[in-house]
Amino acid sequence: MRDLSRDLGHLSLNGATVRERWDLGQIIEGCVRHGIPGIAPWRDQLQALGVAEGARRIRDAGLSVSGYCRGGMFPAVDEAGLRAAIADNLRAIDEAAAIGAQCLVILGGGMSPGSKDLPLARRQARDGLAAILPHARAAGVPLAIEPLHPMYAADRCCISTLKQANDFCEELNPRGERGLGVAIDVYHLFWDPELEAEVERAGAAGRILAFHVCDWLVPTRDMLLDRGMMGDGVIDIPHIRGLVEATGYDGLIEVEIFSRDDWWKRDPEEVLRIVAERYRTVV
Ligand code: ZN
Repeated sequence: MRDLSRDLGHLSLNGATVRERWDLGQIIEGCVRHGIPGIAPWRDQLQALGVAEGARRIRDAGLSVSGYCRGGMFPAVDEAGLRAAIADNLRAIDEAAAIGAQCLVILGGGMSPGSKDLPLARRQARDGLAAILPHARAAGVPLAIEPLHPMYAADRCCISTLKQANDFCEELNPRGERGLGVAIDVYHLFWDPELEAEVERAGAAGRILAFHVCDWLVPTRDMLLDRGMMGDGVIDIPHIRGLVEATGYDGLIEVEIFSRDDWWKRDPEEVLRIVAERYRTVV
């Protein structure tokens, strides 16, 4: 297992962590000031800055891009909706390529309005992924399926476990070529009794493309916007990192905190200082 206490060499900042107070230009400068070598920008922030301009600034700052947020969200009420989602994902792949992203993060999407058919949403997610995978391969942008905690299955992500994500990868990419893998986020997966076996399975196939950290607060006051800073909750982050790194994962560790009433309210300078400190001590 890597020793993180010495430097910030594998740290990446997901822009969501400070996006309420900073635009992408400020986030890039903040990462540089705090010695954080990686970044994971969101589409709306990159588009606001301009894709070419954002790409130039990220490159000039010498930052690695651990992932681009985000694609997927395929399920739709009709064919036209599905086609629109696919077209939007193709654009996201091109944007990810422009900034040199190591992956495009893919959420399955929830059930479309009025639907009670979760298996249908999963089939639509699979079909959407199949439709965009050739373009992702051609662009050199791997797709990272990120399972989200099951509390989001209805409205955000019909893929809830790492086993499901691994199964998707095997079904869509039976020969195990590059271009399709998984993002492992401790917040979404720490509860899963099959996590250890599924991390091994993903690692053995060389498909772990990203590793995200934050913490699960008790109590959690908001389903979406009350994630904790590493060390403030109940997730044994070093244990999960150990599982991931035991497979040979040597990539970036991305800090992604949605926290409307706490971290989003603080001065981003303070947030980045604490992110760096916790990365060295509790991740
Ligand atoms: Zn994540």
